[in-house]
Amino acid sequence: MKIMTRAPAKLNLSLDTPRIHSDGTIEWRMIMISIGLSDYVQVETTMTNLIEIFSDSGFLPQDNRNLAYKAAQIFLEETQIKTGLKITIEKNIPVAAGLGGGSSDAAAVFRALNDLFQVNLPLVALAKMGLRVDSDVPYCIYGDTALVSGRGDVITPLPKLPKMWFVLAKPHASVSTPRILKKLSTTAVQHPRTEALLAAITNRNYQEIISNMGNALETITIAEHPQILTLKERLIKYGCDTSQMSGSGPTVFGVCRTESRAKRVYNSLSGFCHEVYLTQVTSEKPSIN
Ligand code: ATP
Repeated sequence: MKIMTRAPAKLNLSLDTPRIHSDGTIEWRMIMISIGLSDYVQVETTMTNLIEIFSDSGFLPQDNRNLAYKAAQIFLEETQIKTGLKITIEKNIPVAAGLGGGSSDAAAVFRALNDLFQVNLPLVALAKMGLRVDSDVPYCIYGDTALVSGRGDVITPLPKLPKMWFVLAKPHASVSTPRILKKLSTTAVQHPRTEALLAAITNRNYQEIISNMGNALETITIAEHPQILTLKERLIKYGCDTSQMSGSGPTVFGVCRTESRAKRVYNSLSGFCHEVYLTQVTSEKPSIN
Protein backbone atom coordinates (compact mmCIF):
# COMPACT_ATOMS: atom_id res chain seq x y z
CA MET A 1 0.00 0.00 0.00
CA LYS A 2 1.30 3.46 -0.79
CA ILE A 3 0.12 7.02 -0.90
CA MET A 4 1.59 10.36 -2.07
CA THR A 5 0.98 13.69 -0.29
CA ARG A 6 1.92 17.26 -1.06
CA ALA A 7 3.73 19.13 1.70
CA PRO A 8 3.51 22.88 1.04
CA ALA A 9 5.97 25.45 2.42
CA LYS A 10 4.65 28.14 4.76
CA LEU A 11 5.30 31.85 4.92
CA ASN A 12 4.79 34.09 7.94
CA LEU A 13 2.70 37.12 6.97
CA SER A 14 3.23 38.14 10.59
CA LEU A 15 5.30 36.89 13.48
CA ASP A 16 5.13 38.68 16.82
CA THR A 17 7.73 38.41 19.57
CA PRO A 18 7.53 34.89 20.96
CA ARG A 19 7.18 34.67 24.77
CA ILE A 20 9.69 32.25 26.19
CA HIS A 21 8.58 30.72 29.52
CA SER A 22 10.92 29.56 32.29
CA ASP A 23 10.17 25.90 31.46
CA GLY A 24 11.45 26.49 27.92
CA THR A 25 8.03 26.47 26.23
CA ILE A 26 7.50 29.18 23.65
CA GLU A 27 4.26 31.04 23.04
CA TRP A 28 3.73 32.25 19.47
CA ARG A 29 1.40 34.64 17.71
CA MET A 30 1.74 34.53 13.96
CA ILE A 31 -0.25 34.49 10.75
CA MET A 32 0.80 31.72 8.39
CA ILE A 33 -0.06 30.91 4.80
CA SER A 34 0.65 27.82 2.69
CA ILE A 35 2.24 28.37 -0.70
CA GLY A 36 2.58 26.37 -3.90
CA LEU A 37 6.28 25.59 -3.39
CA SER A 38 5.99 22.02 -2.02
CA ASP A 39 7.76 18.81 -1.15
CA TYR A 40 6.13 15.51 -2.16
CA VAL A 41 6.07 12.76 0.44
CA GLN A 42 5.30 9.16 -0.50
CA VAL A 43 4.56 6.68 2.27
CA GLU A 44 4.63 2.96 1.51
CA THR A 45 4.16 -0.05 3.81
CA THR A 46 6.97 -2.64 3.88
CA MET A 47 7.39 -6.14 5.31
CA THR A 48 10.12 -4.97 7.73
CA ASN A 49 9.59 -3.33 11.11
CA LEU A 50 11.72 -0.35 10.13
CA ILE A 51 10.98 3.24 9.19
CA GLU A 52 13.23 4.07 6.24
CA ILE A 53 13.70 7.56 4.82
CA PHE A 54 14.76 8.15 1.22
CA SER A 55 15.31 11.63 -0.17
CA ASP A 56 16.82 13.34 -3.18
CA SER A 57 18.34 15.90 -0.78
CA GLY A 58 21.74 15.07 0.63
CA PHE A 59 21.16 17.36 3.61
CA LEU A 60 18.47 15.45 5.46
CA PRO A 61 18.95 13.10 8.41
CA GLN A 62 17.54 9.61 7.74
CA ASP A 63 16.91 8.60 11.35
CA ASN A 64 14.59 9.98 14.04
CA ARG A 65 16.18 13.42 13.66
CA ASN A 66 14.15 13.62 10.45
CA LEU A 67 10.77 15.17 11.32
CA ALA A 68 8.98 12.84 8.85
CA TYR A 69 10.51 9.83 10.61
CA LYS A 70 9.44 11.20 14.02
CA ALA A 71 5.88 11.74 12.76
CA ALA A 72 5.67 8.15 11.50
CA GLN A 73 7.08 6.81 14.77
CA ILE A 74 4.51 8.75 16.84
CA PHE A 75 1.59 7.80 14.58
CA LEU A 76 2.41 4.07 14.65
CA GLU A 77 2.91 4.17 18.42
CA GLU A 78 -0.37 6.04 19.07
CA THR A 79 -2.45 3.85 16.76
CA GLN A 80 -0.58 0.65 17.67
CA ILE A 81 -0.24 -0.23 13.99
CA LYS A 82 2.63 -2.66 13.37
CA THR A 83 4.26 -2.21 9.99
CA GLY A 84 7.45 -1.15 8.29
CA LEU A 85 7.39 2.11 6.30
CA LYS A 86 9.35 3.49 3.41
CA ILE A 87 9.06 7.29 3.27
CA THR A 88 10.33 8.97 0.13
CA ILE A 89 10.70 12.76 0.23
CA GLU A 90 11.02 14.76 -2.98
CA LYS A 91 12.62 17.86 -1.46
CA ASN A 92 11.78 21.12 -3.25
CA ILE A 93 11.54 23.40 -0.18
CA PRO A 94 14.95 24.78 0.81
CA VAL A 95 16.12 23.24 4.11
CA ALA A 96 16.52 25.36 7.28
CA ALA A 97 15.18 28.37 5.41
CA GLY A 98 12.29 29.61 7.59
CA LEU A 99 9.80 27.91 5.25
CA GLY A 100 8.74 25.06 7.55
CA GLY A 101 9.77 22.28 5.17
CA GLY A 102 10.54 19.70 7.85
CA SER A 103 7.30 20.40 9.71
CA SER A 104 5.30 20.20 6.50
CA ASP A 105 6.87 16.83 5.65
CA ALA A 106 5.92 15.60 9.13
CA ALA A 107 2.34 16.85 8.71
CA ALA A 108 2.18 15.13 5.31
CA VAL A 109 3.20 11.84 6.94
CA PHE A 110 0.45 12.17 9.59
CA ARG A 111 -2.19 12.88 6.93
CA ALA A 112 -0.91 10.12 4.65
CA LEU A 113 -0.85 7.45 7.37
CA ASN A 114 -4.28 8.49 8.61
CA ASP A 115 -5.64 7.89 5.09
CA LEU A 116 -3.50 4.87 4.21
CA PHE A 117 -4.70 2.88 7.23
CA GLN A 118 -8.16 4.49 7.17
CA VAL A 119 -7.83 5.46 10.83
CA ASN A 120 -9.97 8.56 10.23
CA LEU A 121 -8.56 10.55 13.13
CA PRO A 122 -9.82 14.15 13.07
CA LEU A 123 -7.29 16.86 12.19
CA VAL A 124 -7.31 18.04 15.80
CA ALA A 125 -5.99 14.62 16.94
CA LEU A 126 -3.28 14.65 14.25
CA ALA A 127 -2.34 18.21 15.28
CA LYS A 128 -1.97 17.07 18.89
CA MET A 129 0.44 14.33 17.81
CA GLY A 130 2.15 16.86 15.53
CA LEU A 131 2.98 19.16 18.42
CA ARG A 132 5.22 16.40 19.79
CA VAL A 133 7.31 16.69 16.60
CA ASP A 134 7.62 20.48 16.26
CA SER A 135 5.62 23.62 17.04
CA ASP A 136 4.94 24.29 13.32
CA VAL A 137 3.44 20.84 12.66
CA PRO A 138 -0.11 21.50 13.99
CA TYR A 139 -0.41 24.45 11.57
CA CYS A 140 0.93 22.32 8.70
CA ILE A 141 -1.72 19.66 9.43
CA TYR A 142 -4.41 22.27 8.64
CA GLY A 143 -2.56 24.43 6.08
CA ASP A 144 -4.20 27.41 4.35
CA THR A 145 -4.30 30.83 6.04
CA ALA A 146 -4.42 30.72 9.83
CA LEU A 147 -3.62 32.56 13.03
CA VAL A 148 -1.29 30.36 15.04
CA SER A 149 -0.96 30.93 18.77
CA GLY A 150 -0.18 29.13 22.04
CA ARG A 151 2.69 26.68 21.66
CA GLY A 152 1.79 26.40 17.98
CA ASP A 153 -1.24 24.30 18.88
CA VAL A 154 -4.02 26.91 18.71
CA ILE A 155 -4.98 27.21 15.07
CA THR A 156 -7.65 29.72 14.01
CA PRO A 157 -8.49 29.35 10.31
CA LEU A 158 -8.74 32.64 8.39
CA PRO A 159 -10.47 33.54 5.11
CA LYS A 160 -8.72 32.81 1.82
CA LEU A 161 -6.31 35.59 0.78
CA PRO A 162 -7.04 37.71 -2.29
CA LYS A 163 -4.96 36.78 -5.35
CA MET A 164 -1.30 37.63 -4.81
CA TRP A 165 2.07 36.35 -5.97
CA PHE A 166 5.24 35.75 -4.00
CA VAL A 167 8.86 35.93 -5.08
CA LEU A 168 11.08 34.08 -2.60
CA ALA A 169 14.82 34.58 -2.29
CA LYS A 170 16.90 32.28 -0.12
CA PRO A 171 20.30 33.81 0.64
CA HIS A 172 23.29 31.62 1.31
CA ALA A 173 23.14 31.88 5.11
CA SER A 174 22.52 29.46 7.88
CA VAL A 175 20.29 30.73 10.68
CA SER A 176 19.91 29.06 14.05
CA THR A 177 16.39 29.70 15.39
CA PRO A 178 17.35 29.11 19.08
CA ARG A 179 20.23 31.58 18.69
CA ILE A 180 17.90 34.24 17.25
CA LEU A 181 15.34 33.64 20.04
CA LYS A 182 18.08 34.01 22.67
CA LYS A 183 18.75 37.54 21.43
CA LEU A 184 15.13 38.62 21.85
CA SER A 185 15.60 39.84 25.43
CA THR A 186 18.44 42.17 24.46
CA THR A 187 17.21 43.56 21.13
CA ALA A 188 14.57 46.19 20.41
CA VAL A 189 12.20 44.64 17.88
CA GLN A 190 9.29 45.96 15.83
CA HIS A 191 5.98 44.29 16.58
CA PRO A 192 3.74 43.47 13.63
CA ARG A 193 0.21 44.94 13.60
CA THR A 194 -1.42 41.54 13.92
CA GLU A 195 -4.94 42.83 14.71
CA ALA A 196 -4.90 45.18 11.70
CA LEU A 197 -3.60 42.35 9.51
CA LEU A 198 -6.38 40.05 10.75
CA ALA A 199 -8.96 42.71 9.83
CA ALA A 200 -7.34 43.18 6.41
CA ILE A 201 -7.45 39.43 5.73
CA THR A 202 -11.09 39.27 6.84
CA ASN A 203 -11.88 42.13 4.44
CA ARG A 204 -9.69 40.49 1.73
CA ASN A 205 -8.08 43.93 1.24
CA TYR A 206 -4.74 43.51 -0.59
CA GLN A 207 -3.45 47.02 0.18
CA GLU A 208 -4.21 46.71 3.90
CA ILE A 209 -2.68 43.23 4.01
CA ILE A 210 0.64 44.33 2.59
CA SER A 211 0.74 47.45 4.80
CA ASN A 212 0.24 45.47 8.02
CA MET A 213 2.57 42.52 7.55
CA GLY A 214 5.56 42.28 9.89
CA ASN A 215 8.11 39.96 11.46
CA ALA A 216 9.54 40.79 14.90
CA LEU A 217 12.57 38.54 14.34
CA GLU A 218 13.74 40.41 11.25
CA THR A 219 15.93 42.98 13.06
CA ILE A 220 17.81 40.24 14.91
CA THR A 221 18.46 38.00 11.90
CA ILE A 222 19.38 40.97 9.71
CA ALA A 223 21.99 42.10 12.28
CA GLU A 224 23.67 38.70 11.78
CA HIS A 225 23.05 38.40 8.04
CA PRO A 226 22.90 41.85 6.39
CA GLN A 227 22.36 40.27 2.95
CA ILE A 228 18.74 39.71 4.05
CA LEU A 229 18.19 43.47 4.10
CA THR A 230 19.85 43.82 0.69
CA LEU A 231 17.48 41.19 -0.73
CA LYS A 232 14.45 42.88 0.86
CA GLU A 233 15.48 46.16 -0.78
CA ARG A 234 16.08 44.49 -4.16
CA LEU A 235 12.61 42.91 -4.11
CA ILE A 236 11.07 46.37 -3.66
CA LYS A 237 13.40 47.96 -6.21
CA TYR A 238 12.44 45.34 -8.84
CA GLY A 239 8.70 45.91 -8.30
CA CYS A 240 7.27 44.10 -5.26
CA ASP A 241 4.72 45.98 -3.14
CA THR A 242 6.37 44.84 0.10
CA SER A 243 9.04 42.41 1.24
CA GLN A 244 9.61 40.49 4.45
CA MET A 245 11.60 37.69 6.04
CA SER A 246 9.79 34.41 6.79
CA GLY A 247 10.13 32.75 10.22
CA SER A 248 13.58 33.26 11.71
CA GLY A 249 14.96 33.51 8.16
CA PRO A 250 16.96 33.60 6.10
CA THR A 251 14.37 33.39 3.27
CA VAL A 252 12.89 36.71 2.20
CA PHE A 253 9.72 37.10 0.12
CA GLY A 254 8.28 39.92 -1.92
CA VAL A 255 4.57 40.32 -2.68
CA CYS A 256 3.03 41.33 -6.01
CA ARG A 257 -0.59 41.75 -7.05
CA THR A 258 -0.11 40.35 -10.55
CA GLU A 259 1.71 37.39 -12.04
CA SER A 260 3.34 39.51 -14.76
CA ARG A 261 4.89 41.84 -12.19
CA ALA A 262 6.05 38.90 -10.05
CA LYS A 263 7.65 37.27 -13.12
CA ARG A 264 9.58 40.48 -13.86
CA VAL A 265 10.83 40.60 -10.27
CA TYR A 266 11.71 36.89 -10.41
CA ASN A 267 13.75 37.38 -13.59
CA SER A 268 15.56 40.46 -12.28
CA LEU A 269 16.38 38.85 -8.95
CA SER A 270 17.56 35.58 -10.53
CA GLY A 271 20.70 37.36 -11.73
CA PHE A 272 21.43 38.50 -8.20
CA CYS A 273 20.46 35.58 -5.95
CA HIS A 274 21.10 31.91 -6.66
CA GLU A 275 17.90 30.50 -5.11
CA VAL A 276 14.77 32.34 -6.27
CA TYR A 277 11.22 30.94 -6.43
CA LEU A 278 7.99 32.27 -7.90
CA THR A 279 4.86 30.99 -6.19
CA GLN A 280 1.28 31.71 -5.14
CA VAL A 281 -0.90 30.95 -2.17
CA THR A 282 -1.69 27.28 -2.55
CA SER A 283 -5.10 26.95 -4.15
CA GLU A 284 -6.00 23.48 -2.94
CA LYS A 285 -5.80 21.47 0.28
CA PRO A 286 -2.58 19.46 0.55
CA SER A 287 -4.73 16.40 -0.06
CA ILE A 288 -3.79 12.86 -0.93
CA ASN A 289 -3.53 12.04 -4.63
P1 ATP B 1 12.73 25.96 11.89
O1 ATP B 1 12.26 27.37 11.74
O2 ATP B 1 11.79 25.10 12.73
O3 ATP B 1 14.17 25.81 12.27
P2 ATP B 1 12.87 25.78 9.03
O4 ATP B 1 11.58 25.98 8.34
O5 ATP B 1 13.77 26.96 9.04
O6 ATP B 1 12.58 25.26 10.48
P3 ATP B 1 13.44 23.10 8.04
O7 ATP B 1 13.64 22.96 6.58
O8 ATP B 1 12.20 22.55 8.63
O9 ATP B 1 13.67 24.61 8.40
O10 ATP B 1 14.74 22.45 8.75
C1 ATP B 1 15.08 22.66 10.07
C2 ATP B 1 15.98 21.55 10.55
O11 ATP B 1 15.26 20.33 10.59
C3 ATP B 1 17.20 21.29 9.68
O12 ATP B 1 18.33 21.30 10.51
C4 ATP B 1 17.00 19.91 9.09
O13 ATP B 1 18.18 19.14 9.04
C5 ATP B 1 16.03 19.26 10.07
N1 ATP B 1 15.07 18.36 9.39
C6 ATP B 1 14.61 17.21 9.89
N2 ATP B 1 13.76 16.64 9.05
C7 ATP B 1 13.63 17.42 7.98
C8 ATP B 1 12.87 17.33 6.78
N3 ATP B 1 12.06 16.30 6.50
N4 ATP B 1 12.97 18.36 5.91
C9 ATP B 1 13.78 19.41 6.21
N5 ATP B 1 14.53 19.52 7.32
C10 ATP B 1 14.46 18.53 8.21
